[in-house]
This record gives sequence, C-alpha cells and structure tokens, in this order.
Amino acid sequence: MNANLDSGVTTRPVTRQTFDEVLVPTYAPAAMVPVRAKGLDVWDQEGKRYLDFTSGIAVSSLGHCNPELVAAVTEQVNTLWHLGNGYTNEPVLRLGRALTEATFADRAFFCNSGAEANEAALKLARKYAHTKFGPHKSRIVSCLSSFHGRTLFTVSVGGQPKYTEGFEPLPPELSHIPYNDIEAARAAITDDVAAVIVEPIQGEGGVIPGDHAYLKALRELCDQTGALLVFDEVQSGVGRTGAFYAYMDTGVTPDILTSAKALGNGYPIGAMLTTEEIGMHLNVGSHGTTYGGNPLAGTVGLKVVETINTPSFLARVKEASGKIFANLEKLAGEYPQVFGKPRGLGLLIGLPMAGDYKGRSKDYTKICEKMGLMLLIAGPDVVRLAPALVVSDEQIAEADRIMREAVEAFIAG
Ligand SMILES: *Cc1c(COP(=O)(O)O)cnc(C)c1O
Repeated sequence: MNANLDSGVTTRPVTRQTFDEVLVPTYAPAAMVPVRAKGLDVWDQEGKRYLDFTSGIAVSSLGHCNPELVAAVTEQVNTLWHLGNGYTNEPVLRLGRALTEATFADRAFFCNSGAEANEAALKLARKYAHTKFGPHKSRIVSCLSSFHGRTLFTVSVGGQPKYTEGFEPLPPELSHIPYNDIEAARAAITDDVAAVIVEPIQGEGGVIPGDHAYLKALRELCDQTGALLVFDEVQSGVGRTGAFYAYMDTGVTPDILTSAKALGNGYPIGAMLTTEEIGMHLNVGSHGTTYGGNPLAGTVGLKVVETINTPSFLARVKEASGKIFANLEKLAGEYPQVFGKPRGLGLLIGLPMAGDYKGRSKDYTKICEKMGLMLLIAGPDVVRLAPALVVSDEQIAEADRIMREAVEAFIAG
C-alpha cells in the first residue's frame, strides 16, 4: 500500500482489529488495548481499569511509570541518548560496576534483550572452550521445557520443540535433558560439552524451581569436565525470587549469568555477567551490538538495581510472596478439582490446573481479565502470577477476591 502521511494514516484511530490487519500474526494479544498505566493499574481504550499481575512478563517490577525511573530517564533523555560503542558512557560504567559488585561477576556485557544476553553467553562459552580445549569441545547442554529466547541459536537451545518447528536446519551440537534429573545430567555432560545452560527456576516451562541438589550436581559436573555453567536469570533475576539473583539462595555460583526483563523495568536491556578469566575471551571485535549499554539503558538499569538490591526491598518480596502463597493454597484447597498445589519462588508463582481443567489455564485467565485482573499462563496447564515486586497487601487481597469470583464463573461456564 502506498499513501502519503498527510492522508491521515498516522492519526486515524487504531483498535485491536488493526493488529490483525497490519502486524504479522505471531502473537494473539488480548481483546483490550492498554493505553496507560501507573503502578499495578492499567487502563484500556474504554477507560476500564485492570489490576496487573503480569508486570509485562516479569518486567515492570517497580510498577508502571515508576516516578523515580521516570525522573531518571527524563533527565537522561535530555542529556545523552546514544553514541555507539566507539564511546563508553557514565551510566553504563556505573551499572557495570554496580552489577559486578553485587554478584560473583567481574565483567559485564550489555545488550538489549534476554535472547541476546543468552546468545552472548553461548557464544562466549564456545569461544572459551575452543580457545582453551579445542574445537571438539562445543556441545551445549540444556533442559527440556526450558526457554532461552527466540534467536535461532537460543530457541534451538531452548527445550520446546514447538518453537523450532519449520525453522530447520538448526545449529548442531545441542543436547536436551530432563530438568531436575541428576542422572540424565551425569550421562549428558561429557568432555565435549562447552556449556550447560539452565534456569534456576523454569519460568515459561511451568514455574518449576530447580532443586538445589540438582543445581549443585550441575556445578560439579561442569567442574569435572571443564564446561561452563550458565544460569539464565532473565526471568528469575533482579529481585523476582526475593534474592537479587536467584542463584544467591541456591548455594551454587554459575560461571556466566544472563539478566534482562526486570533490569530495565520495560526499557529494553540485557546483560551477561561473568568472571574476569572467562570474560577476557570476548576480545576486541569478537562480539557486539549497536544499542547495547547505551546511556538511556544504563540509566534505567542503574536506578532499578539501586532500588531493588536492598535488604528491606527483598525482604518485602518474600513477605508479599508468603501472602499470595497462603491465598492460593487456600483457593486450591477449596477447589481441588480445578487447581493443584501452587509452586514457585518469591513473586514468580505457578498455579497448576488439575483434573478435567488441565489444558485450560488460558480460559481461566481470560475470565479473570474480564473481571479486571491480568494474569499470565506458563503453558496450557499453569496459571502464572508475576505482579510487580512493589505489590501492596490491598492489591494482593483484590487479586485474591477476583481469582475466587473467577473460579466460580469458570466452573459454572
Ligand atoms: C523471557 C526469557 C528469555 C528471552 O528474553 P527476551 O528479552 O524475550 O529475548 C530468555 N530466558 C528466559 C528464562 C526468559 O524468561
């Protein structure tokens, strides 16, 4: 189609229908179109208010349009946006220093998304193994049901075959093993393995926490074979589980950690963190991205880290988690035919569907949405709750009220 902009194409009203007309159909977005948000409140085109227990998929952890973030980014917007990697900048240097001081890592690489952070981690692991051991050491081991992003490399490493169908040929030298299965890990992690990548808690795959004994076994197997252990903390990181990074509560330290989602609270940013010895292998010119770690991203990330990585903030995440778990356990206890036992860590919580209701998580969340509560699913069998970490007791009570009303309607209809 050809039209001049003065024909009104940029100002004519847009609706959910417009999505079906002009965007590729890779998503199936909700019927309502959100137009503004504040804290955990979202309003649609009709002015209807919703309570957001999705945080844009575990992203807006400090709430929508958080005033401190708005102030920080507004100041930076009026100061310096972007220069490219021929120059460094103060915000990214501050963020790099904050993240390396807060974690096991000594070095950071910044990019724009979780997939890119994992892509960098996997490329680094390959380069490290090739340099240190030779090109035979190139296999990547990952878990079934895992999710690591949608670039061809990361989606192939991810353990959900439905996401790679039709995109073949896929990169070679990848192995998938069942999650939380130590024996399977022992069999798969052989001398030709460059990296083992794992989510300390599987998010998209159904909100399944990794057993600490399992993560510890992965650490030992990596140490024995010279493979690098990569923790994908894109969803679990930046306070979501009540630790600044989930690994901190497991007693297991990875060699590489990837972070994104909540690190930018909605501004695109990704980070790969690693040790000095390993990080040095990404030498000049070996990897890069145009936007990665630009001054805007650095400013947002720094304010997010400053706010979330405090003992009192993280303690409140665990307190709020306890309240939601108590509500969900009560709900599941009263409706055992509909829900199984809730699981998860911190404010990343899964409520499995039970019995005849298996496969119907989306039907339930659609009813909740009609009643004013936005929820996620983690596959067809699990309802996922991931409210902003600043969720209040009143908002926890409101969500509980709506989830109860919705289950009655769900059973009736
Ligand atoms: C969301 C997610 C990714 C992908 O992040 P994008 O920013 O969508 O590329 C990778 N790993 C995990 C664990 C995730 O939850």
